[in-house]
Amino acid sequence: MMKLAKRVSSLTPSTTLAITAKAKELKAAGHDVIGLGAGEPDFNTPQHIIDAAVKSMNEGHTKYTPSGGLASLKSEIVKKFQQDQNLHYEPSEIIVCVGAKHALYTLFQVILDEGDEVIIPTPYWVSYPEQVKLAGGVPVYVEGLEENEFKITPEQLKSAITERTKAVIINSPSNPTGMIYTEDELKALGDICLEHDILIVSDEIYEKLVYGDNKHVSIAQLSPELKAQTIIINGVSKSHSMTGWRIGYAAGNKEIVQAMTDLASHSTSNPTSIAQYAAIAAYNGPQEPVKQMRQAFEERLNIIYEKLIQIPGFTCVKPQGAFYLFPNARQAALMASYSSVDEFVEALLEEAKVALVPGSGFGAPDNVRLSYATSLDVLEKAIERIKQFMEQKM
Ligand code: PLP
Repeated sequence: MMKLAKRVSSLTPSTTLAITAKAKELKAAGHDVIGLGAGEPDFNTPQHIIDAAVKSMNEGHTKYTPSGGLASLKSEIVKKFQQDQNLHYEPSEIIVCVGAKHALYTLFQVILDEGDEVIIPTPYWVSYPEQVKLAGGVPVYVEGLEENEFKITPEQLKSAITERTKAVIINSPSNPTGMIYTEDELKALGDICLEHDILIVSDEIYEKLVYGDNKHVSIAQLSPELKAQTIIINGVSKSHSMTGWRIGYAAGNKEIVQAMTDLASHSTSNPTSIAQYAAIAAYNGPQEPVKQMRQAFEERLNIIYEKLIQIPGFTCVKPQGAFYLFPNARQAALMASYSSVDEFVEALLEEAKVALVPGSGFGAPDNVRLSYATSLDVLEKAIERIKQFMEQKM
């Protein structure tokens, strides 16, 4: 049997995908399973974006592009930063990648040496620790406490810093918690990063999905010094419902972006040409669909949140953005006689046929993640099933 490289021996497969696979298996066996594990908007990609992709193919844009992305797409991204966040980037400070996930992967590959530490607040998006490890880095977890809306404090950040700390990841709005750091909170964290010369990796992929009075602020907006210390990660997957097109990007320090581009030239060559033309249309076309999708998510959140917190044993900090609820289900698990939330989630799937993602995959074993990127009817049915499951078990 061929031996695999040490690099992949400690890779943890994505919990999100594992639960989705299990739900699919049950569905294939004829069960009526409701999956709330999805990490993608349930809307179609807006038609004008699809039309732009078709047009680009008909016009022959089906060849290699520059490794770091088309100049015309970078120019749209430059405009987007200027308009949305009053941030000015040169095209040379931007790299277009095969999704935000690949932008992060490439970034860690070029900034981390063996043993370099990256501070990852928990609960975290599942791929951060794995990507850091794949680059030889060491994830250092800092617990975002539920009573502090799952956010880390400046004191916590400070005490996690060592001589090997290279970067900290800030994901706001957050997957899985939906929490958003305020301007003051970001400033306080940013000051520490500047003091200790720590790179800030700001994952802003859910930037457009913000609800109520909440506001998304990029840490890079807060001062020229913080902008210089930050690499912003963003993309069109969540904002324009384009998960399958695989277009994301990084913006920041020119040397880092150049190194990422050099690496991409030997790995992907370039993001798909057609998808890049689609992303141009996403940014320079009408933004109404983005607003409508945001509105639909907010309506679902408001309805489903109220119903969720009425289920015995569930408590939930109300999310401010993204499309996930991250309730604490520890009490619910105990009330239903399960010793862990993981077991509770498994039973929910087997018996109530509702697929949630256990929080253990996000570094928060007392919680579960429900995605509301599905229709209200389906969400209400799922909540009803969880409620009935609890009633039967108690
Ligand atoms: N960052 C976070 C926090 C995410 O939740 C996701 C997708 O689930 C990504 C990055 C990756 O997005 P993309 O589809 O652009 O690779």
